[in-house]
Amino acid sequence: MTTRNTAGASAGVEFAPSWPIWPQASASSLALLEEVLHSGRWAISGRHRGRPSFERRFAAAFAQYVGTAHCVPTASGTASLMTALEACGVGAGDEVVVPGLTWVANASAVAAMNAVPVPVDVREDTYTMDPDAVRSAIGPRTAAIVAVHLYSSLADLRALQDLADRHGLVLIEDAAQAHGARYLDRAAGSHGHAGTFSMQTSKLLTSGEGGAVTTDRADVARAVEHLRADGRSYSDAPTAVGAMELVESAEIMGSNRCLSEFQAAVLLDQLTRLDEQNATRLHNAARLDDRLKQLGLKPQETAVGTTLRTYYSYVVTLEEGLAADLDLDAVGAELTRRLGTPVGRCHRPLDINPLYRPSSRARFRRAGPEILEGLAAYELPTANSIYRRALMLEHAALLGTDDHIDAVADAFAAVLDTAPRS
Ligand SMILES: *Cc1c(COP(=O)(O)O)cnc(C)c1O
Repeated sequence: MTTRNTAGASAGVEFAPSWPIWPQASASSLALLEEVLHSGRWAISGRHRGRPSFERRFAAAFAQYVGTAHCVPTASGTASLMTALEACGVGAGDEVVVPGLTWVANASAVAAMNAVPVPVDVREDTYTMDPDAVRSAIGPRTAAIVAVHLYSSLADLRALQDLADRHGLVLIEDAAQAHGARYLDRAAGSHGHAGTFSMQTSKLLTSGEGGAVTTDRADVARAVEHLRADGRSYSDAPTAVGAMELVESAEIMGSNRCLSEFQAAVLLDQLTRLDEQNATRLHNAARLDDRLKQLGLKPQETAVGTTLRTYYSYVVTLEEGLAADLDLDAVGAELTRRLGTPVGRCHRPLDINPLYRPSSRARFRRAGPEILEGLAAYELPTANSIYRRALMLEHAALLGTDDHIDAVADAFAAVLDTAPRS
């Protein structure tokens, strides 16, 4: 296990002296990185060197892992969302229903299509989008639903799929936080028209930055290929050594949102450890659930239908009255100081997220009020209630031992006992 020494050993709480770090290096990643370095090909837009690109190798491995016919790697989770939305036909003026509690990219990627994000409230138990709220948000301009698997919960895929089918909508599954999770025994990212992944540095599978779109639909995969490589796609015919493997098929205009060969090589290696890491986190989360429930804290639940749960973040909520009496930022900071591993707040709901501000960009100058006015007018009471009450631990902390988990529980007990009340 890769660990680092941490400050805080003097804080007076018994805990292990070091925490697992994330991301984790390995000799096998280094070997593949060296192979890329000396290969003469650092990107898929480089010349063919007589062997498959790492990007293609990773795409094949990840498609098999997720259980879809196709996987197209991209530069980021955001690029995956944008290319998937566009490949599924979402365009200017369309409305896209997104959860009110999530990373800002779910709203900004929709705006980037000149489409309108419509945030809906989430469920109290799983923090994921409430199918009843989605039903109420569907109108004549709705084109798609983006279901987000958040922290350690899968979205209510059965209900959302049902709604999408009944209203003829596209369903995109944002699995940026759920690599390896399973719902009704099929992997996250294999349920909707397309699944989108992020391989940014905090995620469960990472190459620092990166992403992927998974889909069973050949037309969607082909569109994503063009959208992420300036309108180019892999040649159908064998490529001569020294020639370009990407050809100017130009079925759709695109942009450059490609993963580099270095990133693809790291992902290919990291994927071999994902299941084992997910299993360790699941085991430790169960131990932490038991300990924190005894303190009156409420761990996040996952959707009915989950057959394999993964932990991107471990989140608990405080009871409303207690949260109102405490300064949650200060509690998080004190837990972080004592433990030496970060404890913080959950994502800010989209109606109060300062990062979503299309009016700050010239490209939206001619957009209508539905984009320029932002999301402040939406009512997301449950998302805001969770935000006021939730504390969150990063998944690296769940890669530790029982001692690490017990240290977390002991620190919560001590801090909640002594934190100043207003
Ligand atoms: C991280 C994340 C994204 C964005 O991914 P990037 O790789 O940072 O662009 C999108 N959606 C969710 C739910 C995420 O957690």
